[in-house]
Amino acid sequence: MDLNIQRRNLLKAGSVTLGTAVMGLQAHAQTSQGESTDTVQAVQPLASSTGLRFATCQFKANTPARIGIVLDSGHVIDVQAEAKRHGLKLAFAADSMLSFIASGDGGMAQMQSLAAKAAKSKVASISVKQVKFLSPIPKPQSNIYCVGWNYLEHFEEGKEARVDKTVTAYPEHPVFFTKGVHTMNSPFGTIPYDAPFTAMADWEAELAVVIGKRGRNIAEEQAMNYVFGYSAFNDTTVRDVQQKRHGGQWFKGKSLDGYGPMGPWIVTPGGVVLDDVRIICRVNGVEKQNGSYKEMYFKIPRIIAELSRGLTLEPGDIISTGTPPGVGFARKPPEFLKPGDVMETEITGVGTLRNRVKAES
Ligand code: MG
Repeated sequence: MDLNIQRRNLLKAGSVTLGTAVMGLQAHAQTSQGESTDTVQAVQPLASSTGLRFATCQFKANTPARIGIVLDSGHVIDVQAEAKRHGLKLAFAADSMLSFIASGDGGMAQMQSLAAKAAKSKVASISVKQVKFLSPIPKPQSNIYCVGWNYLEHFEEGKEARVDKTVTAYPEHPVFFTKGVHTMNSPFGTIPYDAPFTAMADWEAELAVVIGKRGRNIAEEQAMNYVFGYSAFNDTTVRDVQQKRHGGQWFKGKSLDGYGPMGPWIVTPGGVVLDDVRIICRVNGVEKQNGSYKEMYFKIPRIIAELSRGLTLEPGDIISTGTPPGVGFARKPPEFLKPGDVMETEITGVGTLRNRVKAES
């Protein structure tokens, strides 16, 4: 196609610019040259040095996963090894993020001390490129809580494409649903594709909140005290299964195995300025979504308050806060993920996921 016609078409589509399209071609060229996409490419500095990044990773191939602290320098501290070196008896199991989160302030103080010592002595010599990152919480203890329609524009864009036309006004309370625990996928894991069942697989970049302590009927003013940290999440969804196949529920189409990549780490609240956070999705390097926390309709305190009303939240519970506009099924014409596609989910200031769609054999 003539470049000018291509450019006009892109501009007409309104969703991508020539710049992002060219970036997409470059990203494609890099991956086709064999550059590995299954690890962290770069560590962006946190908003403040009071924040920490906690990951679950394999420090060597085929060894059990353990907690790592990821430093701005691009190095990872092996928490178990560092604690041993300092003769520190940890208040939690070093192979379990859930155990660490549940250990509360005591465990966090130990982690802060280890991170400070490692940063000072510069002993952390393991690069992020040498370790395999799993989801920070590889096996969630309960379903992942999700918020639907949390951006006005996303609610509007889906109106025409939705099967159920009965909901026309924006809800007064957050819309909640859950994803099963087997949706959990690693930050660079593959998304299973099994057509025709998954032919309408779609992307939903989201900011995930990890709960730090048990609570029920949490007041909105207290809610931020219950936040352990933030992570990148993609509420990957099969649209026809979500909307049609099983009576219009939101569970099955949201709950296929691997349809919830998360990571590469959890950033504690001190390291994130929520108002600066952008929620971005790229497919094969082309930007599809780019929203901001500021545009989120029900903010995190309200979400926690309403969700915990009569419902106990536990340490390590995950709440995904909804996706901005730009999803595939509402596009004209609609777009869906297909084998070979690379879905990139970037939560600025937090982290980036990169998941390739792979046909099941
Ligand atoms: Mg969603």
